[in-house]
Amino acid sequence: MATHETVLIPGDGIGPEVTAAVTRILASADAPLNWVEHQAGLAALESGDEVLPETTLEAIEHHGVALKGPCTTPVGKGFTSVNVQLRKRLNLYAAVRPVRNLEGVETRFDDVDLIVIRENTEGLYSGVENEVTPGVVTSMKVATEEACTRIARWAFRFATKRQRKKITVFHKANIMKMTDGLFIRCAQAIHEEEYPNIEYEQHIIDAGCMRLVQDPSRYDVLLLENLYGDVVSDLCAGLVGGLGVVPGSNFGEEAAIFEAVHGSAPDIAGKGVANPLALLMSAVMMLNHLADTRKDDACRAVAKKIKAAYNTALRDGAKTRDLKGELNTEQFADTVIERLG
Ligand code: ATP
Repeated sequence: MATHETVLIPGDGIGPEVTAAVTRILASADAPLNWVEHQAGLAALESGDEVLPETTLEAIEHHGVALKGPCTTPVGKGFTSVNVQLRKRLNLYAAVRPVRNLEGVETRFDDVDLIVIRENTEGLYSGVENEVTPGVVTSMKVATEEACTRIARWAFRFATKRQRKKITVFHKANIMKMTDGLFIRCAQAIHEEEYPNIEYEQHIIDAGCMRLVQDPSRYDVLLLENLYGDVVSDLCAGLVGGLGVVPGSNFGEEAAIFEAVHGSAPDIAGKGVANPLALLMSAVMMLNHLADTRKDDACRAVAKKIKAAYNTALRDGAKTRDLKGELNTEQFADTVIERLG
């Protein structure tokens, strides 16, 4: 059986705890992976390196696939977000975050099945800021036709492949007429010229958020620029049980990084109580990506086995504290491992 060399970045805060639990589950499931560990974030700084070491970037470029724990981003000061740097340097322009109800996790809605697709390289989220004079600062929102068209085409292609019916763009083009205006024009053009069979709509983001929390089942695939995608992803996570249960992935032409939507959760870091499920689900996405891109059915079989095991664990009531359960990180991992069959 082929073994895939895969970069592992434990990250900061709860990162090392959840990556340890997830790699233990993957090993127990006989995932054909060989980890190549590298650091990024505070962990890299503390070991005397750059916050995003060149060796980490080179390893991801070389191996093409990484599983990454969250990296701490200082608020209001300090270095540029490692996540932003990684996405820009590796041109990982498409973030995909599936948001679905899980059996055994009770939430307000029981019919959520959304995919959030986020443009990952432009917009206000890039953090291009400037102090004009003390007391006056600006932030630049950049949108290019090239990147807006690229993410729109990527989203429609993805929706077609996954047999999804509809793409909705959330925007604020009534106010940001040029930047968001360009984003919706590019999406509309791709719909009309290349994918007329996928239904397309565009909602102003404030009204869209209201509709989303009233009836999430009316949406299918959401396509958003960078900052809106960041905010709406967490909103969507709240619909299905929180940040502990939503996986994520970042795709470019040459590489892909799989990581949970959540951050480093400093409030619970070091306590061993974080939910490893979001990262585990991200690892399942990674195995399916390896199966698709490297034609390796073994990866697909392991992904299926892990998914079945965590679904059974949840149905049996095995839950971490964020889901109102009592298990800690390692106990939840044990419960999944027991159900691998
Ligand atoms: P960032 O700015 O890095 O994205 P954030 O502001 O989104 O971070 P998180 O670190 O994701 O914040 O945490 C938000 C809240 O969700 C915190 O209360 C945290 O404890 C909780 N949380 C996040 N991830 C998990 C997890 N895996 N298990 C349990 N609770 C979590």
